[in-house]
Amino acid sequence: MSKTTVTLIPGDGIGPEVSQAAVRVLDAAGAELDFESHVVGTRALELYNNPLPDEVLESIRRNRVALKGPVTTKVAGGFPSVNVQLRQKLDLYANLRPSRSLPSIPSRFAGVDIVVVRENTEDLYSGLEHVVVPGVVESLKIITEKASTRIAKFAFDYARRHGRKRVTAVHKANIMKLSDGLFLDCFRRVAQEYPEIKADDKIVDNMCMQLVMRPEEWDVLLMENLYGDIVSDLCAGLVGGLGVVPGANIGVDAAIFEAVHGSAPDIAGKDLANPLALIRSAIMMLYHMGKDEVAERLRAALRHVVVQQKIRTRDLGGEAGTTQFTDAVVAALENPHP
Ligand code: NAD
Repeated sequence: MSKTTVTLIPGDGIGPEVSQAAVRVLDAAGAELDFESHVVGTRALELYNNPLPDEVLESIRRNRVALKGPVTTKVAGGFPSVNVQLRQKLDLYANLRPSRSLPSIPSRFAGVDIVVVRENTEDLYSGLEHVVVPGVVESLKIITEKASTRIAKFAFDYARRHGRKRVTAVHKANIMKLSDGLFLDCFRRVAQEYPEIKADDKIVDNMCMQLVMRPEEWDVLLMENLYGDIVSDLCAGLVGGLGVVPGANIGVDAAIFEAVHGSAPDIAGKDLANPLALIRSAIMMLYHMGKDEVAERLRAALRHVVVQQKIRTRDLGGEAGTTQFTDAVVAALENPHP
């Protein structure tokens, strides 16, 4: 069988460690993938004078699928986020972040099964900031009918395909009456086309409180870019933290699979990173590519290692390093347990 080519962006910080882990388990699972590896961010700036070289975008457009590690973005100053640029330039308008309680992963709650659907291309991430006069800056929040309608459709289609019962739009339309008001209007209009799915909405501050009180009550949450960014980290915290939650950025012509977490400079290069989040992103990628059988095999191996063998990294209260955890998953794939 010929191999499928996928673009690989290892990223920086813990990126190369978790990417290597993901590639190893994909190989061991028999995913039959070839990887075209590309450098972005600070290293690409040093090498090519561009943090996001055109070849990277061309590679993803050609292969239509990419697996990506996290990339560091300097706080204030520096080049614009490569992560945000990739999503905008490739029009990967839907960011999908499922947070589900897993057996034997320690967390404060059980029975959580929330999917955050985040609009990925506009809002305050449009990068439109300027100094009006010294001491006064303006940052433009862009919300369009087109993008709001398209992401609402994505959320309801996702809910329909996956048998989910409810989609909740999260907003601040009591204050931002025009921008969040438009987002909410589009949501309500689209909801009418999906009568079998319950549609409601919550103001974002109230939503945060509800999520940490009774997270098991929520299903699919639809949000603009900024609220989605923040609330998906909150949701990750409900099910064991950033080390476990996967993600996908999906567009019409391409998709990039990456974990919710960042480059974690505090643990980079120490073999401490949990590769589970990127491996689970890779499983989402396999389903996206129609490689369901391989995805199931990898899921079973992860379950065996985490649940039966109780091998876990330190963020989950275990002792294993990145390499030891990955070795265990590879071993489970090579000697499958029923
Ligand atoms: P972070 O997600 O990198 O780390 C937050 C905390 O979670 C840290 O304590 C870290 O050690 C821990 N953590 C994260 N991933 C882990 C893993 N796999 N295993 C174990 N522990 C893990 O968030 P941050 O520190 O705010 O951001 C660091 C950098 O990452 C910033 O430059 C930020 O811009 C960037 N970032 C990139 C992406 C992306 O590439 N998509 C996403 C978020 C943040």
